[in-house]
Amino acid sequence: DGAFLSVRDLFVRFDTEDGVVKAVDGLGFELERGRTLGIVGESGSGKSVTNLAVLGLHDPRHTEIRGEILLDGQELTGAPESVLEKLRGNKMAMIFQDSLTALSPYYTVGRQIAEPYRKHTGATRREARQRAVEMLDKVGIPNAALRVDDYPHQFSGGMRQRAMIAMALVCDPELLIADEPTTALDVTVQAQILDLLKELQQQTGSAIILITHDLGVVAHTVDELLVMYAGRAVERGTVHEVLSEPRHPYTWGLLGSMPLLDSDVEEPLVPIPGTPPSLLNPPPGCPFHPRCAHVAEVGGDRCRTERPELPPGRGAACHLPAARQRTAFPQQQTKP
Ligand code: SF4
Ligand code: MG
Repeated sequence: DGAFLSVRDLFVRFDTEDGVVKAVDGLGFELERGRTLGIVGESGSGKSVTNLAVLGLHDPRHTEIRGEILLDGQELTGAPESVLEKLRGNKMAMIFQDSLTALSPYYTVGRQIAEPYRKHTGATRREARQRAVEMLDKVGIPNAALRVDDYPHQFSGGMRQRAMIAMALVCDPELLIADEPTTALDVTVQAQILDLLKELQQQTGSAIILITHDLGVVAHTVDELLVMYAGRAVERGTVHEVLSEPRHPYTWGLLGSMPLLDSDVEEPLVPIPGTPPSLLNPPPGCPFHPRCAHVAEVGGDRCRTERPELPPGRGAACHLPAARQRTAFPQQQTKP
Protein backbone atom coordinates (compact mmCIF):
# COMPACT_ATOMS: atom_id res chain seq x y z
CA ASP A 1 0.00 0.00 0.00
CA GLY A 2 1.28 3.46 -0.85
CA ALA A 3 0.04 7.00 -1.20
CA PHE A 4 -2.67 7.79 -3.74
CA LEU A 5 -0.03 9.53 -5.87
CA SER A 6 3.56 8.55 -5.32
CA VAL A 7 6.46 10.00 -7.31
CA ARG A 8 9.88 8.48 -6.70
CA ASP A 9 13.30 9.33 -8.12
CA LEU A 10 11.80 11.17 -11.06
CA PHE A 11 14.18 12.36 -13.77
CA VAL A 12 12.95 14.27 -16.81
CA ARG A 13 15.49 15.15 -19.51
CA PHE A 14 14.91 16.99 -22.75
CA ASP A 15 17.02 16.57 -25.84
CA THR A 16 17.54 20.05 -27.23
CA GLU A 17 19.71 21.47 -29.99
CA ASP A 18 22.06 22.76 -27.30
CA GLY A 19 22.29 19.54 -25.33
CA VAL A 20 20.43 17.64 -22.64
CA VAL A 21 18.34 19.75 -20.26
CA LYS A 22 18.01 18.17 -16.81
CA ALA A 23 14.56 19.63 -16.13
CA VAL A 24 13.72 17.35 -13.19
CA ASP A 25 16.62 15.78 -11.34
CA GLY A 26 15.64 13.13 -8.80
CA LEU A 27 12.32 14.31 -7.40
CA GLY A 28 10.05 12.49 -4.96
CA PHE A 29 6.77 13.34 -3.25
CA GLU A 30 3.51 11.75 -2.15
CA LEU A 31 -0.06 12.95 -2.10
CA GLU A 32 -3.18 11.50 -0.47
CA ARG A 33 -6.80 11.85 -1.55
CA GLY A 34 -8.54 14.94 -0.19
CA ARG A 35 -5.20 16.73 0.28
CA THR A 36 -3.63 19.61 -1.61
CA LEU A 37 0.08 19.78 -2.34
CA GLY A 38 1.54 23.13 -3.34
CA ILE A 39 4.63 23.13 -5.55
CA VAL A 40 6.42 26.47 -5.58
CA GLY A 41 9.52 27.78 -7.26
CA GLU A 42 10.64 30.23 -9.92
CA SER A 43 9.88 29.49 -13.55
CA GLY A 44 12.23 26.84 -14.86
CA SER A 45 12.39 25.06 -11.50
CA GLY A 46 10.68 21.97 -12.90
CA LYS A 47 7.19 22.42 -11.41
CA SER A 48 5.25 22.30 -14.65
CA VAL A 49 7.55 19.71 -16.22
CA THR A 50 6.94 17.36 -13.29
CA ASN A 51 3.21 17.61 -13.64
CA LEU A 52 3.22 17.20 -17.39
CA ALA A 53 5.16 14.00 -16.70
CA VAL A 54 2.43 12.81 -14.33
CA LEU A 55 -0.15 13.50 -17.03
CA GLY A 56 2.00 11.84 -19.68
CA LEU A 57 1.99 14.95 -21.87
CA HIS A 58 5.67 15.13 -22.83
CA ASP A 59 6.71 14.37 -26.38
CA PRO A 60 8.41 10.97 -26.04
CA ARG A 61 10.65 11.67 -29.06
CA HIS A 62 12.53 14.41 -27.19
CA THR A 63 11.98 13.47 -23.55
CA GLU A 64 13.55 10.86 -21.34
CA ILE A 65 11.57 10.09 -18.20
CA ARG A 66 12.97 7.81 -15.52
CA GLY A 67 11.63 6.93 -12.10
CA GLU A 68 8.28 5.95 -10.72
CA ILE A 69 4.92 7.69 -10.94
CA LEU A 70 2.28 5.57 -9.21
CA LEU A 71 -1.33 6.75 -9.34
CA ASP A 72 -3.59 4.64 -7.16
CA GLY A 73 -1.08 1.82 -7.55
CA GLN A 74 -0.88 2.12 -11.34
CA GLU A 75 2.54 2.82 -12.89
CA LEU A 76 2.31 5.79 -15.28
CA THR A 77 5.98 6.03 -16.30
CA GLY A 78 6.25 4.30 -19.62
CA ALA A 79 2.52 3.50 -19.75
CA PRO A 80 1.21 3.36 -23.32
CA GLU A 81 -0.51 6.47 -24.66
CA SER A 82 -3.81 4.58 -24.91
CA VAL A 83 -3.76 3.97 -21.15
CA LEU A 84 -2.80 7.57 -20.34
CA GLU A 85 -5.49 8.91 -22.62
CA LYS A 86 -8.14 6.97 -20.72
CA LEU A 87 -6.87 8.45 -17.46
CA ARG A 88 -6.53 12.07 -18.66
CA GLY A 89 -9.69 14.13 -18.24
CA ASN A 90 -11.21 11.20 -16.36
CA LYS A 91 -9.16 10.03 -13.39
CA MET A 92 -6.73 12.96 -13.60
CA ALA A 93 -7.33 16.41 -15.04
CA MET A 94 -5.52 19.69 -15.42
CA ILE A 95 -6.37 23.37 -15.10
CA PHE A 96 -4.04 25.65 -17.00
CA GLN A 97 -2.88 29.19 -16.37
CA ASP A 98 -4.45 30.65 -19.46
CA SER A 99 -8.06 29.80 -20.23
CA LEU A 100 -7.73 31.28 -23.71
CA THR A 101 -5.27 28.59 -24.76
CA ALA A 102 -7.18 25.79 -23.03
CA LEU A 103 -10.59 26.71 -24.46
CA SER A 104 -11.10 26.68 -28.20
CA PRO A 105 -12.60 29.89 -29.59
CA TYR A 106 -14.56 27.90 -32.20
CA TYR A 107 -16.86 25.87 -29.95
CA THR A 108 -19.36 26.88 -27.31
CA VAL A 109 -18.29 26.60 -23.68
CA GLY A 110 -21.00 24.01 -23.11
CA ARG A 111 -19.82 21.80 -25.91
CA GLN A 112 -16.23 21.89 -24.61
CA ILE A 113 -17.40 20.75 -21.19
CA ALA A 114 -19.77 18.13 -22.60
CA GLU A 115 -17.26 16.60 -25.01
CA PRO A 116 -14.86 14.97 -22.48
CA TYR A 117 -17.89 13.78 -20.52
CA ARG A 118 -19.31 11.98 -23.55
CA LYS A 119 -15.90 10.56 -24.41
CA HIS A 120 -15.27 9.07 -20.97
CA THR A 121 -18.78 8.09 -19.91
CA GLY A 122 -20.56 7.28 -23.15
CA ALA A 123 -23.37 9.68 -22.21
CA THR A 124 -25.75 10.91 -24.92
CA ARG A 125 -25.48 14.45 -26.32
CA ARG A 126 -28.52 15.51 -24.33
CA GLU A 127 -27.17 14.03 -21.07
CA ALA A 128 -23.76 15.60 -21.64
CA ARG A 129 -25.30 19.02 -22.32
CA GLN A 130 -27.31 18.73 -19.11
CA ARG A 131 -24.11 17.79 -17.29
CA ALA A 132 -22.39 20.88 -18.76
CA VAL A 133 -25.17 23.13 -17.41
CA GLU A 134 -24.85 21.48 -13.99
CA MET A 135 -21.09 21.98 -13.97
CA LEU A 136 -21.32 25.64 -15.01
CA ASP A 137 -23.85 26.15 -12.25
CA LYS A 138 -21.59 24.36 -9.76
CA VAL A 139 -18.61 26.62 -10.55
CA GLY A 140 -20.79 29.68 -10.05
CA ILE A 141 -21.73 30.85 -13.55
CA PRO A 142 -25.05 32.69 -13.22
CA ASN A 143 -27.82 31.65 -15.67
CA ALA A 144 -25.85 28.53 -16.58
CA ALA A 145 -28.68 27.13 -18.73
CA LEU A 146 -28.39 30.19 -21.00
CA ARG A 147 -24.63 30.74 -20.82
CA VAL A 148 -23.90 27.13 -21.82
CA ASP A 149 -24.29 28.16 -25.49
CA ASP A 150 -21.91 31.13 -25.23
CA TYR A 151 -18.48 31.12 -26.84
CA PRO A 152 -15.40 31.68 -24.63
CA HIS A 153 -14.98 35.28 -25.84
CA GLN A 154 -18.42 36.08 -24.41
CA PHE A 155 -17.16 35.17 -20.93
CA SER A 156 -15.03 37.42 -18.68
CA GLY A 157 -11.55 36.20 -17.68
CA GLY A 158 -12.81 34.99 -14.30
CA MET A 159 -15.77 33.19 -15.91
CA ARG A 160 -13.49 31.51 -18.44
CA GLN A 161 -11.32 30.26 -15.59
CA ARG A 162 -14.43 28.86 -13.91
CA ALA A 163 -15.49 27.25 -17.20
CA MET A 164 -12.07 25.62 -17.46
CA ILE A 165 -12.48 24.27 -13.93
CA ALA A 166 -15.90 22.92 -14.94
CA MET A 167 -14.28 21.23 -17.94
CA ALA A 168 -11.53 19.72 -15.77
CA LEU A 169 -13.98 18.45 -13.15
CA VAL A 170 -16.73 17.16 -15.42
CA CYS A 171 -15.66 13.52 -15.01
CA ASP A 172 -14.98 13.81 -11.26
CA PRO A 173 -11.19 13.37 -11.51
CA GLU A 174 -9.49 11.95 -8.44
CA LEU A 175 -6.33 13.96 -9.16
CA LEU A 176 -6.53 17.57 -10.25
CA ILE A 177 -3.41 19.45 -11.32
CA ALA A 178 -3.77 23.23 -11.37
CA ASP A 179 -0.83 25.05 -12.98
CA GLU A 180 -0.81 28.73 -11.98
CA PRO A 181 -4.62 28.68 -12.19
CA THR A 182 -5.15 32.25 -11.01
CA THR A 183 -2.09 34.13 -12.26
CA ALA A 184 -3.98 36.01 -14.97
CA LEU A 185 -6.76 37.14 -12.62
CA ASP A 186 -7.11 40.07 -10.24
CA VAL A 187 -6.70 39.40 -6.54
CA THR A 188 -10.42 39.25 -5.67
CA VAL A 189 -11.23 36.76 -8.43
CA GLN A 190 -8.07 34.78 -7.52
CA ALA A 191 -9.38 34.29 -4.00
CA GLN A 192 -12.82 33.26 -5.32
CA ILE A 193 -11.34 30.67 -7.67
CA LEU A 194 -9.11 29.20 -4.93
CA ASP A 195 -12.10 29.03 -2.56
CA LEU A 196 -14.08 27.30 -5.29
CA LEU A 197 -11.36 24.67 -5.74
CA LYS A 198 -11.30 24.01 -1.99
CA GLU A 199 -15.08 23.72 -1.88
CA LEU A 200 -15.22 21.30 -4.80
CA GLN A 201 -12.44 19.26 -3.20
CA GLN A 202 -14.45 18.96 0.01
CA GLN A 203 -17.37 17.60 -2.02
CA THR A 204 -15.39 15.11 -4.07
CA GLY A 205 -12.35 14.21 -1.97
CA SER A 206 -10.01 14.67 -4.90
CA ALA A 207 -6.27 15.20 -4.52
CA ILE A 208 -4.99 18.52 -5.86
CA ILE A 209 -1.55 19.67 -6.95
CA LEU A 210 -1.36 23.45 -7.08
CA ILE A 211 1.64 24.77 -9.00
CA THR A 212 2.51 28.39 -8.39
CA HIS A 213 5.37 30.86 -8.09
CA ASP A 214 3.27 32.84 -5.60
CA LEU A 215 3.56 31.91 -1.92
CA GLY A 216 0.62 34.18 -1.13
CA VAL A 217 -1.62 31.88 -3.15
CA VAL A 218 -0.60 28.73 -1.25
CA ALA A 219 -1.05 30.05 2.28
CA HIS A 220 -4.81 29.41 2.46
CA THR A 221 -5.12 26.76 -0.20
CA VAL A 222 -2.65 23.93 0.32
CA ASP A 223 -1.89 21.42 3.05
CA GLU A 224 1.66 20.48 2.18
CA LEU A 225 4.31 22.42 0.34
CA LEU A 226 7.23 21.39 -1.83
CA VAL A 227 9.74 24.07 -2.77
CA MET A 228 11.57 23.33 -6.03
CA TYR A 229 14.83 24.74 -7.33
CA ALA A 230 16.70 23.68 -10.46
CA GLY A 231 14.67 20.51 -10.92
CA ARG A 232 15.00 19.36 -7.33
CA ALA A 233 12.92 19.59 -4.16
CA VAL A 234 14.84 21.77 -1.71
CA GLU A 235 12.29 21.95 1.10
CA ARG A 236 9.19 20.07 2.21
CA GLY A 237 6.70 20.42 5.05
CA THR A 238 3.17 21.40 5.90
CA VAL A 239 2.31 24.83 4.55
CA HIS A 240 2.33 26.18 8.09
CA GLU A 241 5.78 24.72 8.80
CA VAL A 242 7.32 26.07 5.62
CA LEU A 243 5.80 29.54 5.82
CA SER A 244 6.31 30.08 9.54
CA GLU A 245 9.67 28.32 9.90
CA PRO A 246 11.32 28.09 6.49
CA ARG A 247 14.62 26.19 6.58
CA HIS A 248 16.22 26.50 3.16
CA PRO A 249 18.07 29.68 2.11
CA TYR A 250 16.17 29.61 -1.19
CA THR A 251 12.84 29.55 0.65
CA TRP A 252 14.08 32.44 2.80
CA GLY A 253 14.79 34.31 -0.42
CA LEU A 254 11.36 33.50 -1.86
CA LEU A 255 9.59 34.63 1.29
CA GLY A 256 11.61 37.83 1.45
CA SER A 257 10.97 38.64 -2.20
CA MET A 258 7.20 38.46 -2.42
CA PRO A 259 4.23 39.89 -0.56
CA LEU A 260 1.87 37.45 1.14
CA LEU A 261 -1.84 37.88 0.37
CA ASP A 262 -2.87 38.50 3.96
CA SER A 263 0.09 40.54 5.09
CA ASP A 264 -0.97 44.02 6.29
CA VAL A 265 2.60 45.07 6.86
CA GLU A 266 4.48 46.79 4.08
CA GLU A 267 7.74 44.84 4.15
CA PRO A 268 10.63 45.92 2.00
CA LEU A 269 10.84 43.19 -0.66
CA VAL A 270 14.31 41.88 -1.40
CA PRO A 271 14.80 40.03 -4.67
CA ILE A 272 16.96 36.90 -4.64
CA PRO A 273 20.27 37.93 -6.24
CA GLY A 274 21.31 36.27 -9.50
CA THR A 275 19.25 34.06 -11.78
CA PRO A 276 18.24 30.39 -11.78
CA PRO A 277 21.01 28.19 -13.22
CA SER A 278 21.06 26.74 -16.71
CA LEU A 279 19.75 23.20 -16.60
CA LEU A 280 21.93 22.33 -19.58
CA ASN A 281 24.87 22.56 -17.26
CA PRO A 282 23.67 22.74 -13.65
CA PRO A 283 26.16 23.84 -10.96
CA PRO A 284 27.91 21.02 -9.05
CA GLY A 285 27.21 20.57 -5.35
CA CYS A 286 24.20 22.50 -4.12
CA PRO A 287 22.49 23.97 -7.19
CA PHE A 288 21.67 27.11 -5.19
CA HIS A 289 25.29 27.84 -4.22
CA PRO A 290 25.98 30.55 -6.84
CA ARG A 291 23.15 32.63 -5.32
CA CYS A 292 23.44 31.65 -1.67
CA ALA A 293 24.70 34.02 1.04
CA HIS A 294 25.51 31.15 3.45
CA VAL A 295 28.24 29.26 1.59
CA ALA A 296 31.02 30.62 3.84
CA GLU A 297 29.04 29.70 6.92
CA VAL A 298 28.98 26.05 5.86
CA GLY A 299 32.69 26.28 5.24
CA GLY A 300 35.24 24.71 2.94
CA ASP A 301 34.09 23.67 -0.51
CA ARG A 302 31.14 21.69 0.75
CA CYS A 303 28.34 23.75 -0.89
CA ARG A 304 30.25 23.81 -4.20
CA THR A 305 31.07 20.11 -4.32
CA GLU A 306 28.66 18.05 -2.21
CA ARG A 307 25.02 17.83 -3.17
CA PRO A 308 22.74 18.18 -0.12
CA GLU A 309 19.94 15.59 0.04
CA LEU A 310 16.36 16.32 1.13
CA PRO A 311 15.62 14.16 4.18
CA PRO A 312 12.29 12.28 4.28
CA GLY A 313 9.42 14.17 5.92
CA ARG A 314 9.87 17.73 7.10
CA GLY A 315 13.20 19.22 6.10
CA ALA A 316 15.48 21.07 3.71
CA ALA A 317 18.25 20.02 1.34
CA CYS A 318 20.99 22.21 2.79
CA HIS A 319 24.34 21.70 4.54
CA LEU A 320 23.67 24.33 7.21
CA PRO A 321 23.34 22.80 10.69
CA ALA A 322 19.70 22.02 11.60
CA ALA A 323 19.69 24.53 14.46
CA ARG A 324 20.85 27.27 12.11
CA GLN A 325 18.20 26.31 9.52
CA ARG A 326 15.52 26.68 12.17
CA THR A 327 16.56 30.06 13.49
CA ALA A 328 18.16 31.98 10.66
CA PHE A 329 15.00 33.38 9.08
CA PRO A 330 13.51 36.44 10.82
CA GLN A 331 9.97 35.38 11.81
CA GLN A 332 8.45 38.85 11.54
CA GLN A 333 8.97 38.77 7.79
CA THR A 334 6.21 36.21 7.35
CA LYS A 335 3.75 37.07 10.11
CA PRO A 336 2.87 40.59 11.15
FE1 SF4 B 1 23.33 27.59 0.61
FE2 SF4 B 1 25.11 25.67 1.00
FE3 SF4 B 1 22.63 25.39 1.96
FE4 SF4 B 1 23.07 25.24 -0.66
S1 SF4 B 1 23.83 23.84 0.89
S2 SF4 B 1 21.46 26.37 0.34
S3 SF4 B 1 24.69 26.75 -0.93
S4 SF4 B 1 24.15 26.93 2.57
MG1 MG C 1 5.05 26.76 -15.40
